[in-house]
Amino acid sequence: AKRVGRGVTRLFDETMDEGIRFRRRVEQGLARAVERDELRLVYQPIVARGELEVVGFEALVRWDSAVYGRISPAVFIPIAEESNVIHTIGDWILAEALAMVARLPQQYVSINFSPRQFRRHNFVAHVMESAQRAGVAPGRVQIEITETAIFDDAERAAETLFRLRQMGFRIALDDFGTGYSSLYNIRKFALDSLKIDRSFIDGMGRERESAAIVHSIIHLGRALGLEVVAEGVETVAQVQALRLAGTSHLQGFFFSQPVDGDVAVMLAERRVLAGG
Ligand code: C2E
Ligand code: CA
Ligand code: CA
Ligand code: CA
Repeated sequence: AKRVGRGVTRLFDETMDEGIRFRRRVEQGLARAVERDELRLVYQPIVARGELEVVGFEALVRWDSAVYGRISPAVFIPIAEESNVIHTIGDWILAEALAMVARLPQQYVSINFSPRQFRRHNFVAHVMESAQRAGVAPGRVQIEITETAIFDDAERAAETLFRLRQMGFRIALDDFGTGYSSLYNIRKFALDSLKIDRSFIDGMGRERESAAIVHSIIHLGRALGLEVVAEGVETVAQVQALRLAGTSHLQGFFFSQPVDGDVAVMLAERRVLAGG
């Protein structure tokens, strides 16, 4: 029994080491990804129902690492978030997304910010100066944050959002419904848009609970005069159910995968997606 115990412990340690080594390597790789030109942004259309007009794009980062190949942001963003590396890549993402706004006829670009970026000293001034440098009107820039970013220090977060909004930036609360304090937050914070998490859209057809949550978020958003965006829309059945429920904005593979900047400009100039 002793031998087995030791064996199990060692296996466990090695697995831990492996995980820590992986994270450290990813972090080091990311620190150099910008200068090595390994990052790029793709853009997923956000459409308004009815005519399926493209009103905006969400910018999503991609990393083609020389060492790891294609690696998902769902893996590397949380690692970057643990250190200041998030600022290195976050600043690149911001500049790149702002340059994209300048290429689009009228749409906004929605940019994801991680909690650590949002809480950074001088975040508001940094975003404002970056937009000015790019010659971009704040109204064409949407700042996407999750509830996690505003939960820890709600008062300071409310102040940050208020100042951003005063300058004209759009604010979206991402993955809405998955955080801790949903109702409390939207009452207190200056927001333009609620993004319903994909898991609820996905569950809508199967579980009464998901459908009920989707409906109440839509009602709440409308009552507060917010734009409500359903994310991860994949099927015609979901589109129909969401239309019935009164969602104004949709995003997902049903309309378009995230696309390169050039393709996004084409879609933006046409305004109406082929599928519509
Ligand atoms: P998110 O902000 O919730 O982004 C939506 C994710 O859902 C994207 O995954 C998108 O490609 C995917 N998606 C969109 N439509 C559909 C659909 O119809 N079906 C399915 N199954 N998926 C869909 P992606 O690009 O892999 O990004 C994953 C997460 O990584 C993002 O989740 C976000 O949290 C983070 N992330 C991505 N880009 C950035 C960035 O530039 N900065 C920061 N801070 N985080 C980012
Ligand atoms: Ca997002
Ligand atoms: Ca989301
Ligand atoms: Ca998400």
